Amino acid sequence: MSLTNRILIAMVAGILLGSLLNLILHAAGTSAEIRALLDTYLVGGLFDVVGRIFVASLKLLVVPLVLVSLICGSSSLGSSARMGPIAAKTVALYLFTTAVAITSALIFAIVIGPGANVELGGVATFQATVPPPLTDVLVDIFPSNPVQAMADGKMLQIIVFALIFGYAISHAGEPGRRIASFFRDMEAVVMKMVELLMLLAPYGVFALLAKLFANMGIGAIIDLASYFFTVLAVLIFHALVVYSLMLKGVTGLSPRLLLTKMRPVWAFAFSTASSGATLPVTLRTVEYRMGVHNSVAGFTIPLGATVNMDGTAIMQGVATVFIAQVFGVDLSVTAFLTVILTATLASIGTAAVPGVGLITLAMVLSQVGLPVEGIALIIGVDRLLDMFRTAVNVTGDSVVSVIVAHGEEQLDRDVFLDADAADGSVDLDVYPNSKS
Ligand code: ASP
Repeated sequence: MSLTNRILIAMVAGILLGSLLNLILHAAGTSAEIRALLDTYLVGGLFDVVGRIFVASLKLLVVPLVLVSLICGSSSLGSSARMGPIAAKTVALYLFTTAVAITSALIFAIVIGPGANVELGGVATFQATVPPPLTDVLVDIFPSNPVQAMADGKMLQIIVFALIFGYAISHAGEPGRRIASFFRDMEAVVMKMVELLMLLAPYGVFALLAKLFANMGIGAIIDLASYFFTVLAVLIFHALVVYSLMLKGVTGLSPRLLLTKMRPVWAFAFSTASSGATLPVTLRTVEYRMGVHNSVAGFTIPLGATVNMDGTAIMQGVATVFIAQVFGVDLSVTAFLTVILTATLASIGTAAVPGVGLITLAMVLSQVGLPVEGIALIIGVDRLLDMFRTAVNVTGDSVVSVIVAHGEEQLDRDVFLDADAADGSVDLDVYPNSKS
């Protein structure tokens, strides 16, 4: 059975078993012993341990992978003068997709009016954190100590360091060539680690989802159904319609094929709710399954996982309108433009880990004068939405990567068009180089 199918089956099984456990744990007839047994040994024991080890192993690969793949990418582009244009195109596309995402979110939310009939009863308090000044955010992109940046997992700092290092390699003559070949070998080895981890993915995904659904009361969705389904509708619209139109329009390639290849990545994004933890899988998929050359994928994917969060922006757009409606505030046209601008910035500033989108939402709300406590209204369904929006976040990165690679003639169309490319059971004896 293909890896994709195994992961998807694990995902469905995890959700079903978790939901069943939730029912049993909350059923009146369940004895205290059974409840304690299931809670302690299964949900809080086995599932918790397997899930946490799985996420830790994914995170383990992020820093080495970003570092080596970016160094490889920028060292192979550094001498060709394509680095600047690729970076400019990528950033422009990321900003464009995010702006489109918020605009659709605002339009959907205004038309549907999810907050129109919601009663404002007993709003819990929400403690907003004060965002750092913009100047600090900017300065913080530049590392003063690369080792510290890696130890702290500061992605933007690692990206900047790797780009400069790779560029220097490409201009350092023979020593540069030797170092470049070392990093290419390193990349193959780290990618092999990703493949090993993929073998365990079905168990990890299963454990994460079973635990989450066993603990999560889905009942909160009923109270917030209008908000929940509005966000979900825009997320689906963006993933299926906007990305498909962009891909088809610019490259002529089949969106259906791309979306099919994204399925295992979605399972990772959905179960971890973290674009960062999903990054190794996104990178592997875009390179080996979609045929994007490492020089482009190595730059676009780590950067996208860090700054490009269309799903998060969608949630923030709908949430802003929802909170405004609940509090009976009429937003002006200027306020909507402010939301588009600040939600773009907020989604860039959102770390690629679970739940941060909700924290940066405070920034958007305060910019348009809405009460930050409004966030408490939507907390109940945020974890579930986080899973969906993270899946959209990683899809956006992959689509932009394919589009940029296509424009730069760095896309292996044969790999893209091969539906089964690199989706067999992982062959541990073969160097997985299907790149052009
Ligand atoms: N969990 C999201 C991600 O990692 C970020 C967020 O919206 O909270 O992409």
